[in-house]
Amino acid sequence: MIEFRNEPFTDFSKEENRSAFEAALKKVRAELGKEYDIIIGGKHIKTDQKIKSINPSDLDEVIGVVSEADTELAEKAMQTAVKAFESWKAVSPAARARVLFKASAIMRRRKHEFSSWLVLEAGKSWPEADADTAEAIDFMEFYGREMIRLSERQPLTRIPGEDNELTYIPLGVGVVIPPWNFPLAIMVGMTTAALVSGNTVVLKPASPTNVIAAKFMEILYDAGLPDGVVNYVPGPGAEVGEYLVKHPLTRFISFTGSRAVGLRINEQAAKTAPGQKWIKRVIAEMGGKDSIVVDADADLELAADSIVKSAFGFSGQKCSACSRAIIHQDVYDEVLNKVVEKTKQLKVGEAKSLGIDLGPVIDDKAYNKILEYIEIGKKEGRLMTGGDKAKGNGYFIQPTIFADVAPDARISQEEIFGPVVAFIKANDFDHALEIANNTEYGLTGAVIARDRAKLEKARQEFHVGNLYFNRKCTGALVGVHPFGGFNMSGTDSKAGGRDYLLLFTQAKLVSEQL
Ligand code: NDP
Repeated sequence: MIEFRNEPFTDFSKEENRSAFEAALKKVRAELGKEYDIIIGGKHIKTDQKIKSINPSDLDEVIGVVSEADTELAEKAMQTAVKAFESWKAVSPAARARVLFKASAIMRRRKHEFSSWLVLEAGKSWPEADADTAEAIDFMEFYGREMIRLSERQPLTRIPGEDNELTYIPLGVGVVIPPWNFPLAIMVGMTTAALVSGNTVVLKPASPTNVIAAKFMEILYDAGLPDGVVNYVPGPGAEVGEYLVKHPLTRFISFTGSRAVGLRINEQAAKTAPGQKWIKRVIAEMGGKDSIVVDADADLELAADSIVKSAFGFSGQKCSACSRAIIHQDVYDEVLNKVVEKTKQLKVGEAKSLGIDLGPVIDDKAYNKILEYIEIGKKEGRLMTGGDKAKGNGYFIQPTIFADVAPDARISQEEIFGPVVAFIKANDFDHALEIANNTEYGLTGAVIARDRAKLEKARQEFHVGNLYFNRKCTGALVGVHPFGGFNMSGTDSKAGGRDYLLLFTQAKLVSEQL
């Protein structure tokens, strides 16, 4: 097998790539408005209750109509997954990995088509959608190889007269609850990590992006995944998700989403249901309030570029997005002015057009919440640019910068999850680090500095799961930057890293006297 390599991003400066993407968008547009069923044990189930998926760039465009599951169907999915576990756990790790490699090959062939679904259902710009699809391919390629590695003879201290063997066996049924912001990559990563480890899955996708998850189910079946190994159960998180979390037959929950929901899941999962035989495992990756620290001797152009890219890519709807720029007082005005100038050049518009920098935010709930935070920001800081909704028949918001924000202000502390960044002035580098560590989160961060001693200090003291020097704080690559955060950002599962599959397995030691 060839060594893992990241899927390359598409170069949209090339005409042939642009026209291939246009063609994929056209193909996908022709499929809009279709119905998608619940899938349990390979059977397609229609319900009367439907969830409409809407294009956030154009609220009149229906992406698809999905049958909504209730708790009765969630129960059926759970029982089906329990049954399927008995045969799937016996399938060899190599054969399970092969399903992932096949699925990844199919997705690579249909890459622009998947990215087009992301443009239309999630409002991602072409490059952001392309990166999301590439990451989904990477996860499958990486976890397939990881399962093969874990199935090899594991190193143990050997003693004479005994044959000792440690193997990683699956856990059981996992409930997979992904977010909408990486509706392909994170959903695929969480689902395939669970299944390649030998578990079966009840997948409850994020409601705004149910169609992308349905499209992925097609690929899994094309790749030869047996019925019942992944069951697709769209429905409201608070009802269907919660029912599955509390279920006595749930062995583990793999969740990525907000702090509030993650903590609730953790609490519910800790209660032992009647008939439950294990301690449920919770893998929870949650929110962030990520900072870029700029020192006095930094390359200020690099600092400004890094802040703009990290704050406004996908309209700031990344757990890794920079929402706090903490700047040494000596260069504060200069960095602020550069960032404001660059931000004023950004184009907000419909995600389907190449050349826009910010598409819409995902839905009305997010739109209203972000606009409320902007109003709070107007009281807590000096509005430098943006500060309002933007034109269009979608959830468009101007990229917004507030200056002179206090480190303990609400917009410095609470996750906004939109295109809003707060500038905070630091007296010196130590003060900047102190501010950077003053939230309850600990996901990503970046330091833009030249002084080696300061970088080393940040290496020790900047308490985040993913710390970057002299670059943006978004854009983690599978295998290169294993991803996960500290504190209220979650369980630091390090998705896309060598430790990840251990969370979906348990180690069994067999010792035989010779
Ligand atoms: P939410 O927490 O709102 O939803 C995440 C998932 O949980 C959805 O599938 C949702 O379903 C489901 N859910 C909601 N309520 C419950 C419940 N009571 N029990 C079980 N499941 C439930 O997050 P978002 O989808 O809005 O995603 C954005 C958040 O995700 C941000 O906070 C972001 O920082 C975080 N995130 C973290 C990452 C990380 O690696 N740390 C990566 C990406 C995002 P439904 O949609 O039906 O409500």
